[in-house]
Amino acid sequence: MYGAAIIAQALHDLGVKVIFGLPGLPVTDIGQEGLYRGIRFISFRNEQAAVYAATAYGYLTGKPGVCICVGGPGVFHVMAGIPHATANSWPLLVLAGSSETHNGGKQAFQEVDAISLLKPHAKLAVRPHSAETIPKSIKDAYRTAMFGRPGPAFVDLPANLILGHYDIPRHTPTPYSEPPMSVAPDNRLRAVVDAIKSAQAPLVVIGKGAAYARAERPIQTLVEKTGIPFVPTPMGKGVIADSHPSNYSAARSVALKEADVVLVLGARLNWILSFGLPPKWNPTAKIIQIDISADELGQNGGNQSLSLVGDVALVVEQIVDRLAGWRWEGRSSAFSRSLQAGKEKNEARAAKKAAVQQLPMPFERAFDVMRTTLNELSNPANGDIVYVSEGANAMDISRSIFTMEHPRIKLDAGTYATMGVGMGYAVAAYTAYNLTGEGSSGTKDHKKIVAIEGDSAFGFSGMEVETMARFQMDILIFVMNNSGLYRGDSDASDRWHEKRRNTVAGTTKEGAGLTAWSLGYETKYQKLAEMAGGIGFEARTPEELREATIQGFKAKVPVVVNVIIDQQADLPMDFSWLDMAPPKKEAKL
Ligand code: ADP
Repeated sequence: MYGAAIIAQALHDLGVKVIFGLPGLPVTDIGQEGLYRGIRFISFRNEQAAVYAATAYGYLTGKPGVCICVGGPGVFHVMAGIPHATANSWPLLVLAGSSETHNGGKQAFQEVDAISLLKPHAKLAVRPHSAETIPKSIKDAYRTAMFGRPGPAFVDLPANLILGHYDIPRHTPTPYSEPPMSVAPDNRLRAVVDAIKSAQAPLVVIGKGAAYARAERPIQTLVEKTGIPFVPTPMGKGVIADSHPSNYSAARSVALKEADVVLVLGARLNWILSFGLPPKWNPTAKIIQIDISADELGQNGGNQSLSLVGDVALVVEQIVDRLAGWRWEGRSSAFSRSLQAGKEKNEARAAKKAAVQQLPMPFERAFDVMRTTLNELSNPANGDIVYVSEGANAMDISRSIFTMEHPRIKLDAGTYATMGVGMGYAVAAYTAYNLTGEGSSGTKDHKKIVAIEGDSAFGFSGMEVETMARFQMDILIFVMNNSGLYRGDSDASDRWHEKRRNTVAGTTKEGAGLTAWSLGYETKYQKLAEMAGGIGFEARTPEELREATIQGFKAKVPVVVNVIIDQQADLPMDFSWLDMAPPKKEAKL
């Protein structure tokens, strides 16, 4: 057999339905041999976007997303996706070509010791020793990526193994099996149930680990039966519908500050959850973690003795069983009143911002127009739109405005806050929901993929619009264009151009030239769609934005809507997830 065919067959035997990657010698034929076997091959314009797509595909499907790349520089480009997969606990399988083993150490073509490079960062990094061992290496890596806490695995494939012909017996595939899952022991469950029953101010926090684990049913039952309030993390949104009355996302700070017993379901107590520690959390709260990884229990504010290792879906079922009939009688408690007051205050503040009649539109106004229009065009209760969002402000502000009624229809920069993931994610979501059908949520077959991109974030991988066009993916992309990273330099074109003239090779007198966060003034991002056979719109007013959203939603090609928004040149550069922010005076340059 041809080496590339052995590799493609090994992937096929594992049930792999799609490979993301960027072809080049020696791996090109792996993609081609995959195609002969019915495995889709989605080729990108940059390996980074391909590997980000594979990570998101892993999250959406619960099976490793597969990415192939060439050796040397290709491996360095996909490196970006490796810690990204680790940080998010998503299963990823990377297969990279490498120089021939017999040329090792001779400065061969694209030579790099990829195993040494990847070993510290991946769950497993292996190189098959011979053509016979290729299927085993691939299977080991696939299984390792998916079993236990998901993460990245890597297989190095020397060119002589890929391009050689081997007289080997046809390998007999072993059937694919679901990852093994464990439940919690009785004595520990009893302690957790007692703690919940004794709570004055209980809270459930739902993370993306719960979405990954497809734990929506038991978690919905838990909240329904007990009446305990909940808050989702950014990607935990939709495990229980955002519209559920027990959802207190809009009063998150109050919830964390006042809750005394907290069940954290598939979420780490990292920066996203303010470490589970004061000042954001109640210092006396008992924080009970439920996680597939024992390593996580007791981290930061987590209560090690109460926390449980196991599959979140199975363990929540156990808790629901043990709580049988118990309900939190705190609907009129001080905690409930604080939550309600916090929710109403924040919702009123958001509504006020969304109603601001000013041009260029602020983020909130633009998002309000997009949300209202998209909700009219679709049925949010069916979860038939998948939202991708990235960019500091674009992501943070859109999070509370766009609501999710289903799990796994929201993808953002994630635990590593990685920028540049949006286009790869959008392709992954399109593939999982509309091509292979391996993602599932809601009831509709064809989901519309909507990417909400900051202009800086879009710039990382804007060229992937061509990938979307090539594969006829009707993805709708909004670029929130404030001509800068975080914020722009100047609302007026002539002042911006003057600043640019004052900027000599990146140096400038204080205040006279472009800032470090400046981007091109009102760059015409929509042309990237037109270039590739898609459609581009520019929208400056709410009416133009509404019309572009309608046309963009209905289009059968990729669409880029360039939304010109307020540059907010005086916006303080702080970030609620970081403890520190630059001094305020810098904002006034
Ligand atoms: P978020 O970003 O939403 O806060 P994190 O990525 O920090 O979520 O946490 C997700 C957690 O979910 C990880 O600690 C991971 O180990 C865990 N996890 C993944 N799959 C399961 C599962 N089947 N059961 C329980 N926990 C899981």
